[in-house]
Amino acid sequence: MAEHMAVENMSATKRQKLDEDEFAFNFPFRPYSIQEELMKELYETIADRKIGIFESPTGTGKSLSLICGALSWLKDNTDNLGVLKENKQEAVEEEKNDEPLWLRAYQTPVESNQKRELTQLCAKLDDIRVNPKHARMKDIRLMHLGQTKPIARKATAETKESEENYIVPEYESDHGTKHDSDEEEQDDNPGFEEAVDYGIVQIFYCSRTHSQLSQFMHEIKKTKFGTNIRTLTLGARKSLCIHPDVRKLTSDTAMNDKCLDLIQSTSSKKKAPGCPYNKKNLQRYFKHHALAQVQDIEELHDLGEQLSSCAYYGTRSAISAAQIIAMPYSMLLSKSTRELMGISLKNNIVIFDEAHNIADAVNSTYTVIIPSQQWIQTRRQVWSYFKRLYENRLKGRNVYYIKQLLNVLQSCYKFLTSKAKLKDNTQPVWTITDFLFETKLDNVNLFKIYQYLEKSQLAQKLLGFLSSEYSEDGERLSEQSTITTGSTHVSPLRSIQAFMMALTTATKNGRLLLHYKDKDNGEGKEPCL
Ligand code: SF4
Repeated sequence: MAEHMAVENMSATKRQKLDEDEFAFNFPFRPYSIQEELMKELYETIADRKIGIFESPTGTGKSLSLICGALSWLKDNTDNLGVLKENKQEAVEEEKNDEPLWLRAYQTPVESNQKRELTQLCAKLDDIRVNPKHARMKDIRLMHLGQTKPIARKATAETKESEENYIVPEYESDHGTKHDSDEEEQDDNPGFEEAVDYGIVQIFYCSRTHSQLSQFMHEIKKTKFGTNIRTLTLGARKSLCIHPDVRKLTSDTAMNDKCLDLIQSTSSKKKAPGCPYNKKNLQRYFKHHALAQVQDIEELHDLGEQLSSCAYYGTRSAISAAQIIAMPYSMLLSKSTRELMGISLKNNIVIFDEAHNIADAVNSTYTVIIPSQQWIQTRRQVWSYFKRLYENRLKGRNVYYIKQLLNVLQSCYKFLTSKAKLKDNTQPVWTITDFLFETKLDNVNLFKIYQYLEKSQLAQKLLGFLSSEYSEDGERLSEQSTITTGSTHVSPLRSIQAFMMALTTATKNGRLLLHYKDKDNGEGKEPCL
């Protein structure tokens, strides 16, 4: 009887398996015609390297259809490492044909090293998949062998700012900071490993909210792809940071500033303890466990906590080995964010879910609003910083660039207030060129000032300075900056830096607007640029 049941079960499983194989595009059950049509069109669009716009009513299994259509193409066209199959590489190789022979010959050994590295990584992931819980426990023991658990509070106390901490390093203009030019110390991405180009075909799935991204990951788990595909969800520090003191901060900008401050202190020559959860040599454990299973952002955060390893930088270090990367629109749409994370869209697949939100997302990614008070308040704070440290502490080109910055802040403030005073302001919109002429900033190299702000980390240094200095009436200078930033943990220079980035990267369609917003104290309106 038992034997008969076993045979029955076996044939039921086999039948189910056969049925599964029969379902088009590896759909987990028999698809409706609307789903099959969507998967077919999507598959062909990817195969033809085209752009497609698809519409499907709510509740028609859109996410599952997108997953099965795109992943079926991936399965049919890539090898077991996720690299385009050799016979499919012709189109890609064509693009390389204009490279000189010596360059192609040089690339070959590098490529085979990367292949070996990727093969080892995939073997490691297969090991983890056999028993993920056991593998995780084993790695936790290995990671912390001989190490004490990080104590965030102690580390924070040790990083207490001293004057040395908020002085910008010597700056050598186009060559960056002196610190940058020191090869031993150089580290452009202090938080995570350099991106490696393994040649993997990647699918970037973008959606508006994290719950949609999580739902996408849960749908992948329902399919047969879920067992061995390498996925990753990217998010902001708010979702992935595991440092208790940083997580307590309420705004994204405050968390970013605090985190960068901790990291910069580690990479500086003073070797302050930095963030105890961000150790590059331990990041690979996070990377392995993040890629071995399909996980949403909360699960990745929990993984970071279990391993005591930063999930924010851990996910970034895993990007180059992932096949599917889910992320909010804003990350993919911002060129600088993509570059910072080592994301390349070339020869890869991008899917925007609910794409009608893209215009709004682009707007909010590139829109910066700065009230008149913030322009002048920030100028005063930069001036205090400059005056206090000018005498003999600021070296190299720092003095030159800080003076230029003061000039920009003053000019923008004057421009804004003079336009706001005009009774009949018939032209509250300016092109970038008109704005630069009117403010007389057309002869100032804004790009270099922006580069200086990026490299010198002046925004964070200024924040440290403001928290340690007091005004004549005994108030911390950082308290004064809350008038404009809303928090003592946010550098007043952050939005100015974003404004300068928008000015220097805008296309010919970029515009500046005079805009009014209600004052925080409710007493009338304030002009903003
Ligand atoms: S390095 Fe990671 S854990 Fe540490 S503060 Fe930054 S985001 Fe948080």
